[in-house]
Amino acid sequence: MAKSTPSRRRITVLGANDSVVVIGLGRFGQSLALELTQAGVEVLGIDTDEDIVQDLNGRLTRVVRADATKEEVLRQLGVPDFSHAVVAIGSHIEASILSSSWLLRFEVPHIWAKAITAPHGQILTQLGVPHVVYPEADMGKRVAHLLRGTIADYQDIGGGFAMVTANAPQSMVGRPLDKVGFRKKYNLNVVAVRQPDGSWDHATGETILAADDTVIVLGPAAVAEHFIDMA
Ligand code: ATP
Repeated sequence: MAKSTPSRRRITVLGANDSVVVIGLGRFGQSLALELTQAGVEVLGIDTDEDIVQDLNGRLTRVVRADATKEEVLRQLGVPDFSHAVVAIGSHIEASILSSSWLLRFEVPHIWAKAITAPHGQILTQLGVPHVVYPEADMGKRVAHLLRGTIADYQDIGGGFAMVTANAPQSMVGRPLDKVGFRKKYNLNVVAVRQPDGSWDHATGETILAADDTVIVLGPAAVAEHFIDMA
């Protein structure tokens, strides 16, 4: 369970010697831990709930019933030597904050934590957790866009940016994208266009879109999610 050298790249790729500790094995933590295990990653799961631990026994590399807010417990389990850690505790906010603070103290190189509310996420960010995710809020937003039916896909990519897949609005059709000026006006970039055969191609300033073309647009989330209304 060697600690990998912290990378300067912001995207962290799991290497062959990397291992992940997942703290909290509720629906989110379990799904994450099982997916990683199936991908061949070494995973230690920790939860206080005996039934959950029994149920996952043999399905993760190791699963332990323990209180992850206790420094000694985490040390005994070798958590300071892990390269990656995910705190997947939501409603027990105090436990989420405490276990995250131990991971930060241990200087685990890659720490991710789930937040269930904005204040929860704000506390984790202020603590110094580098990756705070909001799976419920993100999924709710995404489904709302899908339900409206105007957007084929909506993906919050963090840092205030989102990627939207949708039919091109009328105002974008029939002129080169340079002339349409979406980037200048809204700070939105059309990055790809779907071809009639279903494959994707890069969009450039010279690309001329046809009615019903599907495009991928990247830009500030607040603008990108209203992209379709800019017709
Ligand atoms: P879900 O992912 O199911 O939506 P949730 O967001 O409601 O979960 P919680 O129920 O607060 O999150 O926590 C997820 C899991 O974390 C639970 O299985 C719980 O037993 C476990 N847990 C809570 N406190 C601790 C702790 N101190 N140490 C280890 N595990 C804990």
